[in-house]
Amino acid sequence: MTAQDTKLPTGEDLVAEIDRLRKERNAIILGHYYQRPEIQDLADFVGDSLQLSQMAAETDADVIAFCGVKFMADTAKILSPEKIVVLPDMDAGCSLEDSCPPDKFKAFREAHPDHIALTYINCSTEVKALSDVIVTSSSAETILQQIPKDQPIIFGPDRHLGGYLNRKYDRDMLLWPGVCIVHEAFSEQELLKLKAQHPGAPVAAHPECPPHVVDHADYVGSTSGILQFAKTFEGDTLIVATEPHIIHQMEKALPEKNFVGAPGADGNCNCNICPYMALNTLEKLYTCLRDLEPRIEIEEGLRLKAKQSLDKMLEMASGTIGKGDLGRA
Ligand code: SF4
Repeated sequence: MTAQDTKLPTGEDLVAEIDRLRKERNAIILGHYYQRPEIQDLADFVGDSLQLSQMAAETDADVIAFCGVKFMADTAKILSPEKIVVLPDMDAGCSLEDSCPPDKFKAFREAHPDHIALTYINCSTEVKALSDVIVTSSSAETILQQIPKDQPIIFGPDRHLGGYLNRKYDRDMLLWPGVCIVHEAFSEQELLKLKAQHPGAPVAAHPECPPHVVDHADYVGSTSGILQFAKTFEGDTLIVATEPHIIHQMEKALPEKNFVGAPGADGNCNCNICPYMALNTLEKLYTCLRDLEPRIEIEEGLRLKAKQSLDKMLEMASGTIGKGDLGRA
């Protein structure tokens, strides 16, 4: 912590200072649905990975303050190399990215030379550079359906999303064994108890959840897809099986309805809050706009290789931006 940081503004002054710096730096603040409510409320744009990538590629701001995790900020830099991209906390990683070291992924690819690599965006820049097409949970369905059924595919790093797509589209993609620690923590037993407490309430689940949770869902989709479902479901209570900070957007849009987060293993733990996303705070957002650090830097050769698979995603996903829908389970 610098001497300056000991005198950080607080409360409304902090929000006003972030606003002042945003204007002074010609910065855009992008926020993921899993960010703390106070960050979502301050962001210029809140969205899922695909929407945030699209926004990063299109913005004419000079600075992108990315309130999400590192692979998302890396993606913004890959798509907008001329911009300064800052991440409030450089330790905001992702268990899926950690599960897929580039050297091991490279060896896996080399062991299956006839397979193409369809890779979830939750991975490192190096793994993107080793992939053919990137997908997000909101674009995976559209993209997979454009690939011929007889084309062998490696899908990484999320085995639950890959397994869900395999089951739904009768594919046999080879799956990398990674999981999201947040979605993995949902408990089937606790979900069934919650359903009994709210008879008739539908369940909306993210496809990063394991099959024993997804199998109880009335709707399976990306964060933006789940939000869309929340705006249209009939009834007054919805059970939400994804990172609970998304409920903030639901409560803002539909204050008269009741949104209940699905529980983790002991029924009331906080294990469904993403510990990486939670590292970003308003104070760190302020200091990163003030100092333009920590800053994302990517070596140009690597960036260009990774950009190919991201460009392919944006091209194949065109038409799905904002739809965010993997459909019903
Ligand atoms: S919620 Fe899961 S997939 Fe998303 S950033 Fe956190 S650990 Fe990664």
